[in-house]
Amino acid sequence: MAEAMIEFHSVTKRYQGGQPAVDNLTMSIDKGSITVFVGPSGCGKTTSLRMINRMVEPTSGTITVGGRDVTSVPAAELRRSMGYVMQSSGLMPHRSVLDNIATVPRLNGVSKAEARRRAQELLDVVGLAQVLGKRYPSQLSGGQQQRVGVARALAADPPVLLMDEPFSAVDPVVRDELQQELLRLQRDLAKTIVFVTHDIDEATVLGDKVAVFSVGGKLAQYATPEEILRAPASDFVASFVGRDRGFRHLAFSPSDGVSLHAVPTISRAELDAGAAASADADWLLVVDADSRPLGWASAGGGSGLIPGGSLFRKGDTLRRALDAALSSPSGLGVAVDGHGKVVGVLKADEVLSVIEAARLTRQGAH
Ligand code: ADP
Ligand code: MG
Repeated sequence: MAEAMIEFHSVTKRYQGGQPAVDNLTMSIDKGSITVFVGPSGCGKTTSLRMINRMVEPTSGTITVGGRDVTSVPAAELRRSMGYVMQSSGLMPHRSVLDNIATVPRLNGVSKAEARRRAQELLDVVGLAQVLGKRYPSQLSGGQQQRVGVARALAADPPVLLMDEPFSAVDPVVRDELQQELLRLQRDLAKTIVFVTHDIDEATVLGDKVAVFSVGGKLAQYATPEEILRAPASDFVASFVGRDRGFRHLAFSPSDGVSLHAVPTISRAELDAGAAASADADWLLVVDADSRPLGWASAGGGSGLIPGGSLFRKGDTLRRALDAALSSPSGLGVAVDGHGKVVGVLKADEVLSVIEAARLTRQGAH
């Protein structure tokens, strides 16, 4: 039997005394393996993950890591002893890539020179060119930023890596690359990785074991991917897995029925000059001189350029169309032409209706 690294014993979390976000969770996570938490939005995946490093404290129950009750370790120390990667890379914008990667070793008292040398090695480990080390996060693509996030999490060589939807905001093609890269890395590193996703495909590709959560923070099934696909433990798991199977067929359907809408755009210079604040639209698409998308600006906020989601091209599948809309901070998927120029945006609810119509047609045909 595999050795346990992380154990949940009857762990429940209620926020402000409401319904449980996580309900009486008991599970054991194997050392040196990838365990994936998967399930629909709001089912307690992030809460469960964050209780491991005490970013969230359980209402009742205990969690042990390496046999030690996590509450016996000061929260700050515990957090630094585990790598953490999020969906938004969470990098510090005014620090170079190398300095971002070196953050935790520096906090742990490693000298600046040594921390930077290690950071440089890590660029290689995560497949980034050395020259990128001197750049700032905003000068990297979304996929490159996520690689930096992984490098930063690995910098102190922690035995445990917690990853919360780290690849959800990048293009599906880049996402596949990052998944393969993580599997390759894991073959060398053999970390204990807990990985959260809402995507059953991602879960089955990455997980040695998969924990399916259902609404209300209940563990619905915990098994190998093969077993979950072959023998779902309940109607809920079957429908969660099956819904996606239906979806996978749709991956082959062309997206011709999806409408494109006009979108207000501004340049980077206009954004920096504060032009977004006076716009009438909620979201403005920031484009370069060749009309290629750079990201989004929110009319209300002065938060600058917000990295965009995946892009959509004419003829792409419905799945990619939906992915573009759902991964975009504005909820609008950006469509580009063959030169990468913006041709419009698509809306998630409209893509979903086209998917629903396609599904009904398919059912009618059977
Ligand atoms: P998931 O990651 O699966 O989407 P979460 O763990 O983020 O789920 O959330 C589980 C439930 O707990 C949801 O109903 C969510 O609204 C609630 N929740 C999460 N964080 C907080 C919080 N800080 N305060 C109150 N409720 C929260
Ligand atoms: Mg979450």
